Amino acid sequence: MSYLALYRKYRPITFDEVVGQDSITRILKNQIKYNRVGHAYLFSGIRGTGKTSLAKIFAKAINCPNGVDGNPCNCCDVCLKIDRPGVMDIIEIDGASNRGVDEIREIRERIKYPPTVGQYKVYIIDEVHMLTKEAFNALLKTLEEPPEHAVFILATTEPNKCPVTILSRCQRYEIRPIPKTLIIEQMKRICQDLNVTMTEESFDFIASRGENSMRDALSLLDQIVDLKDEAGNVLFTDLLAFTGMADKMQIYRLVKQIISADSIGVLTHLREFVSDGKDSVLLMDQLIEYLRAILITKTTKETAKEILLCSSEDLGHYIELSELLNFDTLYMMISQLIDEKNKLKYSSLQGIIVEMALLNLCLRDQIQKNVKTMELTTQKESLKKEIPQSVQINPKEVALKPDHQVNVSEKKTVVQENKNPYESVGQEVIKPNKASDELPDMTNFDSSAAAQDEPSTEPQKSKNSGNTRHDEMKLFKLLCDEISKTNSGQAMFLKRGEPSLEDNDHLTIIYSTENKNFFHFVNKPELVKSFEAVLNHKTGKKITVSVKLEEENFTKLDIVEKTLRIVNNEAVKIIKNED
Ligand SMILES: [Zn+2]
Repeated sequence: MSYLALYRKYRPITFDEVVGQDSITRILKNQIKYNRVGHAYLFSGIRGTGKTSLAKIFAKAINCPNGVDGNPCNCCDVCLKIDRPGVMDIIEIDGASNRGVDEIREIRERIKYPPTVGQYKVYIIDEVHMLTKEAFNALLKTLEEPPEHAVFILATTEPNKCPVTILSRCQRYEIRPIPKTLIIEQMKRICQDLNVTMTEESFDFIASRGENSMRDALSLLDQIVDLKDEAGNVLFTDLLAFTGMADKMQIYRLVKQIISADSIGVLTHLREFVSDGKDSVLLMDQLIEYLRAILITKTTKETAKEILLCSSEDLGHYIELSELLNFDTLYMMISQLIDEKNKLKYSSLQGIIVEMALLNLCLRDQIQKNVKTMELTTQKESLKKEIPQSVQINPKEVALKPDHQVNVSEKKTVVQENKNPYESVGQEVIKPNKASDELPDMTNFDSSAAAQDEPSTEPQKSKNSGNTRHDEMKLFKLLCDEISKTNSGQAMFLKRGEPSLEDNDHLTIIYSTENKNFFHFVNKPELVKSFEAVLNHKTGKKITVSVKLEEENFTKLDIVEKTLRIVNNEAVKIIKNED
């Protein structure tokens, strides 16, 4: 006998065996018990959750004369006939490959003939959203006036692509994604049946990979069970090696390195992964899952263990790491990795993209720390201003400043374009060779951009592009400073933008495409409103605020350009960082 895939072998044959859809099966059973069967049903939901299984059980149950509590008996003459391939009364159509009007017309032709086996003729159209417009129109005519003996069951993963006229003629059932716990229970039953033993960790791992789809989980299990040894045991390490995934301990160490901005450690670790045969694309998935677990732990504290179904050891790690990160950074890291993961699908340079994505996370973390240092310095500066000026001003320093300013801006144009002053300030701060003054550029920036009441800054004023530039920087800094008092994360994201002031009453904050994650974070109506309120409060004027993303469309670049762009940017940053 040919091998039957686990998903088919353990396919439910009664409503009671269907996993995770209790309310829907109860409704369908009651309709059968009380003779309230309709003419058209639509089952929608993600792949592998049992839409066609439900349709097949329903088709059998409405025809079975010996049904038990709405379930088909599966042993009467009718049930057995329906199980045979090619039975005329149950017609299964794959909407993806029979999408034309001719197929639907054929259905209309044949539907008038009465059923031969049971009471109903059932048409199951899978992936119905794939039908053409003409086919939908033909189907609609049939649905409008179906013969007494006809029942249509339409199944789809994308109900939004079906015409409303079709949807409104169907009883609609949303098939829920199957909870991980139920998938694990089902896998345990199957493994017991197959005399295979696995650890909880392995079950959890496979169920997670299935992403709430029983079919996907069982397809993976199908391969995994063959890894068993003589005694029927499947080792977790074998499972990881087979799937090309890293174990949680490795992910924990990697995340820790990312948090501590250990770029070299991260690169070394990545190289080890690849030489161990690990899949760098799956690594992105694992990292996203891990960071999500940290976020959930940070949010839910003790209850995280039940939500994540994790071991005490893992929970300990999540708690440890959640204390090192704030919410904003966690959100930013996750959304950035998801973004990068989407790029992977269409790229032949996956290894490089993963490498760059992780390095970027390391660097962003550093930038955040720098911004914090910068905020501290700003506070120090404002304290200094309260001390009499004669003590503070050093004529030598004043004389040096213009040169230094030119120097910095030259460096900026050579190394990085489109950067705002905050960022270059941030990167200058961490340079170890500036020993004479802890934060020289910060002082410089602060005086040129904001502290115009200091006499020492007069020479630089002429270097600014004009009053508007000066005003917009001043206003923007005022805003950033105020926001950072209540939410340093928000302020950090805000500072990644470039201000532009129009008519003295409208401030636009523009983000370059490489900062689009920050743009998405900041561009929320409630945040923009709070910015306006702050400016109103601080200036006494009504200033409107808007947030914009720079025009360049990264997604439209070809893959070589994309990679070059990523590699160039990052390579420059790394060199700059470590000099
Ligand atoms: Zn039966």
